[in-house]
Amino acid sequence: MVEATNFIEQIINEELESGKVNSVYTRFPPEPNGYLHIGHAKSLCINFGIKEKYNGKCNLFLDDTNPSKEKTEFVNAIKEDIKWLGFSWDKETYASDFFPKIYELAIELIKKGKAFVCDMNAEEISQNRGTLTQAGKESPWRNRSVEENLDLFTRMKNGEFADGEKCLRAKIDMASPNINMRDPVIYRILRQTHHRTGDEWCIYPMYDYAHPICDYMQGVTHSICTLEFEDHRPLYDWVGIELGFAPKPRQIEFARLNVTNLVMSKRYLKKLVEDGSVEGWDDPRMPTLTGLRNRGIPAQALKDFCGRIGVSKANSEVQISYFEACVREYLNANAERAMAVLNPLKVTITNYPENQTESLDFEINPSDELKRTRKIDFSKTIYIDQDDFSLAPPPKYFRLKKDGYVRLKSAYIIKCDDVLFNEDGSVKELLCSYVPESKSGSDTSGIKTKGVIQWVNAEKGKDVEIRQYGYLLNDEEYAGQDFSERMNKQSVKIFNGKVEPYVLDNADDRPYQLMRTGYFKLLNVKDKTILSEIVSLKDNFNVKK
Ligand code: ATP
Ligand code: MG
Repeated sequence: MVEATNFIEQIINEELESGKVNSVYTRFPPEPNGYLHIGHAKSLCINFGIKEKYNGKCNLFLDDTNPSKEKTEFVNAIKEDIKWLGFSWDKETYASDFFPKIYELAIELIKKGKAFVCDMNAEEISQNRGTLTQAGKESPWRNRSVEENLDLFTRMKNGEFADGEKCLRAKIDMASPNINMRDPVIYRILRQTHHRTGDEWCIYPMYDYAHPICDYMQGVTHSICTLEFEDHRPLYDWVGIELGFAPKPRQIEFARLNVTNLVMSKRYLKKLVEDGSVEGWDDPRMPTLTGLRNRGIPAQALKDFCGRIGVSKANSEVQISYFEACVREYLNANAERAMAVLNPLKVTITNYPENQTESLDFEINPSDELKRTRKIDFSKTIYIDQDDFSLAPPPKYFRLKKDGYVRLKSAYIIKCDDVLFNEDGSVKELLCSYVPESKSGSDTSGIKTKGVIQWVNAEKGKDVEIRQYGYLLNDEEYAGQDFSERMNKQSVKIFNGKVEPYVLDNADDRPYQLMRTGYFKLLNVKDKTILSEIVSLKDNFNVKK
């Protein structure tokens, strides 16, 4: 028996032990009405995680019972996202695959006296549903004969009635303390072209009724969903019991993932795309899986995160910094180092020979066991970051200041001898001298420097646009306010920087740690190649191992 790491696995273990089930079958059930987001990753990790752990099966089940919102574009995007996470489904199934069966079983319920055609419209039904403290009122159509119900339901299917004129309801209990059990609607008339069945049907089953049937037909043993479906479980079970499902699939609910500073409602994400607040569903600031992928978040880091936050029944909010710490930890071990500057400041090394270029060793990644290096070119003119020089340095300023020393990463110690100014008083250029005996790896200069800064060779370095991102939503202190009031209006910062040519020459999807700046990858935005931030370097959260 495998060791259970959460309450769902505990349930599965108990059922396997008692012989209630002898294999495990789950499904991931998105509605194809939008793009998957980081919350769905949690559900994916749970469902496919169980498949992998128990050597079971997991289907991709597309819940397409609501034709007005569903599109094939979304189906394709969902598939791509799941593949990116490295999961593979056993079967690709659709609720619409089962429409004939779902219809047939509705007839069975009618024959058992467990469903009836109701002439009330949606508004009347909701008015008669009662409240938490008050029982609902029975429909005047509740006691129609089986024959009449069969006839009317067939005519509903044949298109004899207008949309909403009639519906099919389960006959359960209008006095049930659970409002979902008060004769819920299980079929409605709706003339909408379905993305797969076209105009074949003008009646569509409701999710609560269709879902247990689809689970059962696929052989699903554990139907895992989020907490808001807890109150729907009695109806899920009612359908299974009335239709004699054996073995009946078991619904288990867990708490959905919420992350601070992230918008996670499909409806709102859609609005951001439509009003142009972001560049698309795959904008690197979006918490969609396509956005995270485009941003350069490694799939493995996202899976590590989902594993670490655990699975529980209590709703909570996870700090975005925890997610970032998982990403950073992965990238720290896996990303190559490189050098770039966001705000270039020219430095001329006055005592370095004109027209000389020196090839220096640069460590690819300090945690690389093979200690591999690559070559970087050093010469007389370089750029450093404006932030690494100060005219009025505070105490303990270890970067460059007038008459001070600093080490250039993997190169030499330099001293700032003179500062040239622009007409407006801003710093134009630094005149420095280098210490020839201070070469990294063979330093005999005896000069102690506390600061090490990155630099880019002026002649070989390339111009590049560098983007850093903030969150789409302002901090938790605004929590509870409407999303539109929490929007961060400055979620992108753009720099005209310089980068070593190596980064642009290796224009694939690989992540880089731009030293002392953050993790970045190359991204094409409107035919322009930019360096786009994956996650900043600042670590303000410790990952517990
Ligand atoms: P909507 O209701 O707007 O369609 P949804 O988020 O419920 O959005 P589904 O496509 O129905 O989207 O979700 C597919 C599966 O992912 C469901 O099992 C759902 O419970 C789960 N899921 C959705 N959001 C989260 C979340 N934030 N955390 C964990 N699981 C989630
Ligand atoms: Mg949903």
